[in-house]
Amino acid sequence: MAKSILIIEDDDLNMKLFGDVLRAQGYDVLECREGVPGFRIARERRPDLIVMDIQLPAISGLEVIGWLKEDMELAAIPVVAVTAFAMRGDEARLLGAGCAAYLAKPISVARFLETVRRLLTGPQTAPI
Ligand code: MN
Repeated sequence: MAKSILIIEDDDLNMKLFGDVLRAQGYDVLECREGVPGFRIARERRPDLIVMDIQLPAISGLEVIGWLKEDMELAAIPVVAVTAFAMRGDEARLLGAGCAAYLAKPISVARFLETVRRLLTGPQTAPI
């Protein structure tokens, strides 16, 4: 059965890029453009992995990650954070919030897929 990946991303071009690339690899893709409904979908569908944009319209992806990590049933789902803000300290802050990996936009497709594959197949404790 195909692994399912929830993408929470408000930018149309990035959503299309992530979705197309993941579907081409055979993943079952769920899409959502805002944090609150995205969290609801995560609860209902229990995806195998979540791709989380940090800059979302209503609330920050960082806040949604906090909700996911506080939820006993969702905390183990690996979250790949993507952000346009490649600021010093961002990576440590995101990994500290519980993200399994962090990618700065513009995304390298090869690196994105490698990260997704590693998180879906490898040990969850593998170093980033
Ligand atoms: Mn965004």
